[in-house]
This record gives sequence, structure tokens and C-alpha cells, in this order.
Amino acid sequence: MPDTIARFQEPLTGETVRCTLCPRSCVIAEGKSGFCRVRVNRGGVLFAETWGKPAALQVDPIEKKPLAFFLPGSRTFSIGTFGCNLGCRFCQNDELSRNGYATAQQHPPVTPEELVELARRYDCPSIASTYNEPTVFFEYLADTAKLARVAGLKTVLVSNGFIAPEAARELYRLIDAANIDVKAFDDSFYRTLCDGTLAPVLTACEIFRNECGGHLELTNLIIPDRNDAPEKIHALLDWVEEKLGRDTPIHFSAYFPAGGYHESPPTPAETLFRIREQAIARGFSRIRLGNLR
Ligand code: SF4
Repeated sequence: MPDTIARFQEPLTGETVRCTLCPRSCVIAEGKSGFCRVRVNRGGVLFAETWGKPAALQVDPIEKKPLAFFLPGSRTFSIGTFGCNLGCRFCQNDELSRNGYATAQQHPPVTPEELVELARRYDCPSIASTYNEPTVFFEYLADTAKLARVAGLKTVLVSNGFIAPEAARELYRLIDAANIDVKAFDDSFYRTLCDGTLAPVLTACEIFRNECGGHLELTNLIIPDRNDAPEKIHALLDWVEEKLGRDTPIHFSAYFPAGGYHESPPTPAETLFRIREQAIARGFSRIRLGNLR
């Protein structure tokens, strides 16, 4: 599999490079990788280590992404690689998100052409980039999405939305449907628990839905005493109502201790029921609850 030069990079002094794919804007020295661990500086050029190297391939119901209002009842051919550009302490999928190719076991390469062929073989009308953060495999995803469109397949994204606007505008035009996480309508939550910020995520949602015209659903993982206060839910609903519309599907999902984070108990079902009532009372019609056990 040939090395793929990464998009969105700027040369700095010497052999140092800045990656501008996401708002983190990592400055990466020769021989090092960025925060996500999968964009690597070799000889002053940034390479996308994730291209053609899926760590997970699986057929899933589209509702598992979750997407409740896009090709309902269909199956989606799901791919994931390694790495993530956020550092959520409560990550529910840290086996993939915390690893990089420098340290992880190598997997057999799969080209975008082969992904499209596999999706057809398994009778999937869409290909979903999921499991780890798709932004960090931008090049692989974009190449696959272009081929999928020619083949009559849809492309689905499950993302944290932490992407630079320029990259989002380029990528999102290739994507038909997305579920983007708004982890809390609270910038301090993002800074203290995710090593990120809220504003770029909101911008990404607006670019996807309002500029690129994609089908957008949101997910908010509810963590007790962290982001479940009624005023925080109201703040989220205020923003959705103003920027995206009350017909936007929102999935409120239960948290379970994971990723070494055990400071919060599992989310009680009653909390999600209360949030659903709160949203319905405001006229939101497409509220879904997830991860209830
Ligand atoms: S994509 Fe990775 S390397 Fe690039 S800025 Fe974001 S975290 Fe850093």
C-alpha cells in the first residue's frame, strides 16, 4: 500500500510541519505524529498513516450508528481505523481511538475500490465511517466516498465534529448522512473532559446541514452530574432550534463507565426519560434514547 501524503499541512521551519485538518493545529516535528497519533511527519512531509488500513470492518444495522431517519431498516458496511483527535476521558471505544499505527498491530490493507466491492457483496446501500474518529482518516474516507457515489452507494459519517471548517466543507460535500456528537453544550466540559472545545463542533454541524445539505442527526451522551442538568439540555435545544430546526433528530444516550473513567455512575433510565419529556415539551419531534439496558 503506497504512502499517502496528508491533506491540510503547512511546512514550518526546518522539517517541522503544522497539520490544519482539525482545530488542534498540531505542530509536528520530524519523526513524530500529531495528537491523533496517525498523521506522521517523515522528512518534513506529513503522511496519513490510516489510508487503506482499516482496523475494523463490519456490517451493522444503520440504526446502530445511530441513524434513525436515513435508509431505515438497511444495513451499512462499517469501517474504522485507529486514532482520535479528541481525548475524552470517558471514551466508550478507547481500544481503537487511543492507538496508532506506530504501536498497533498492522492489519491487511483494503483499498477504497475493495471497500465499495465489499459493500455491494454484503448488500449494503451505504458505507459508514465509524468506530474511531473519521476525521483522522480524511483521505481514505474521501477517496472511498467518491467511488461510492459513482457506484450508487451512500456515505455515512459518525463523527465528533472536531474538524477545521475548510476541511469540513471539502469532506462533507461527499457525505450523505452523519451523526455528530455534541457531547455537552458546555465549553468547559469539552476542555476538562475531552481536551477540546465546543465551538468547532457546532460550526461543523452547521456546515454539514446548512451548507452541504446532508442529513444530520445528533448524539448527546448523558453523563450523570456532568452534562445532564436541565439548563444544559435547554441550552443544547436552544441552539438546535435556532441553527438546525426542531425536526433535527437527537439521540440522548446512556453512559456506562469506560476508558478508565469511573468517576460517574451509569446514567439512570429516568434521566433519559426526563430529558425526552423536556425536548418533546419544546416541540422536538424526533427524539431517540439510546444505550438503555
Ligand atoms: S488531525 Fe491529528 S495531527 Fe492533525 S491537527 Fe488534528 S490531532 Fe493534530
